[in-house]
Amino acid sequence: MSRAVLEPYRIKMVEPIRLTSRSEREDLLQRAHYNMFLLPAEAVTVDLLTDSGTNSLSAEQWAALMIADESYAGSKSFARFEETVRDVFGYTYVFPVHQGRGAERLLFSVMCKAGDVAPNNTHFDTTRANLTDFGVTCADLLCAEGMDLQLHHPFKGNMDVEALRTLLREKRERVPMVLLTITNNSGGSQPVAMANIRAVSAACREFGVPLYFDACRFAENAYYIQQRENGYSNKSIEEIVREMFSYGDGLILSGKKDALSNIGGLLCTNNGALVMRLRERLVLTEGFPTYGGMAGRDLEVMRVGLREGMDANYLAHRLGMTEYLGARLREQGIPIAEPAGGSSVFLDARGFLPHLKLEQLPAAALAAEIYLEGGVRTVEIGSAKLSSGETMSLVRLCLPRRVYSQTQLDYVADVIGDVWKRRSEIGGLEYEFKPEILPAFSAYYRPLSAVAEQELATAD
Ligand SMILES: *Cc1c(COP(=O)(O)O)cnc(C)c1O
Repeated sequence: MSRAVLEPYRIKMVEPIRLTSRSEREDLLQRAHYNMFLLPAEAVTVDLLTDSGTNSLSAEQWAALMIADESYAGSKSFARFEETVRDVFGYTYVFPVHQGRGAERLLFSVMCKAGDVAPNNTHFDTTRANLTDFGVTCADLLCAEGMDLQLHHPFKGNMDVEALRTLLREKRERVPMVLLTITNNSGGSQPVAMANIRAVSAACREFGVPLYFDACRFAENAYYIQQRENGYSNKSIEEIVREMFSYGDGLILSGKKDALSNIGGLLCTNNGALVMRLRERLVLTEGFPTYGGMAGRDLEVMRVGLREGMDANYLAHRLGMTEYLGARLREQGIPIAEPAGGSSVFLDARGFLPHLKLEQLPAAALAAEIYLEGGVRTVEIGSAKLSSGETMSLVRLCLPRRVYSQTQLDYVADVIGDVWKRRSEIGGLEYEFKPEILPAFSAYYRPLSAVAEQELATAD
């Protein structure tokens, strides 16, 4: 037996959790239209909806809040923030924004025009929505290994470099930039290898296209490179981070992920020719360039969080926890996407509920059932085609940073185990209301009526 995965911190402040009864949850679920986003957080026992902005701050971050400079222009907090960002990532120009999607809009507004094509390993949903809003076509060029749920491979977030070269050969004049998402959030938060980053960068240089990172989980990606890629086991996380970003021209980043903050974001570039236009756009939608939609306090929290997020002991614990939760589910025979790790564990909803058709929304139905069983909030992830030709349907269990203990994750594994035992009795859902943009956030669902179930069953 290997040793327990030790938390490299102790608890200084606690936040009580209100426990709910099953009948209470039944009622809450109906009132939330079976959508996890519409539940009151107070009625959630263990909240695995997202790791975005749900991080616990450290004592040092709370202390940094107190020394913040809230000056409108030229604040000391910005100077410190800028210095840290330059040191961590190695880019020259630093623009704070209110969160990741602010950086997306800012970058795309100066780089893209309608009719363009933007390649990425997999576009995250807000990135895709923003590019689409600018009239840009999104090309997902994920490697074949990334499209097989069961395959074990160390870097399933890699981009298909041949596909990128083909795209650049055919459509170079329509490609304003290449994006690379590390780790690949919408592709199961799988990491991208340094060798792949280097190869993508070489293709970009050859065709003269800038490379920008969607770098929200940069520290977790660096940790996987250190653990899994030849030649990196003796390098520090800080060194690996510097090397990764040396192959690109800039980044967009949400401070709510690996920067261990509750809000905030960042755009970096080495391209001085963009600076004046970026400043203009920043003032228009985010704020003056030395705060960009963040309070001085937020800049301080993010500055400290950027460093703490690269601590090797913290990363070993965090990624050890997702692997632990994956193992607890796997040992009960529950189908999950492999390999488990990164920020999340994914349940394969079609494997879990094979009696439901895609139209019966197995992922949404499973998420609702897990909440009903034990107050655990998860999230359904929109469907996508797999290499097998099948359409996947996933439920994500996403771990907030420095928030839950191993006991709480054991509880999650037990709750899902109890749902697994009665899986054949679980019915499907249907849309009561389906919004056009980012439907998962605000859709209304309802249990499929007996009549609709009957019609679906006789349809084949
Ligand atoms: C979270 C995230 C974003 C968007 O950031 P927000 O802070 O939520 O606006 C963009 N890309 C990726 C890969 C993300 O994980």
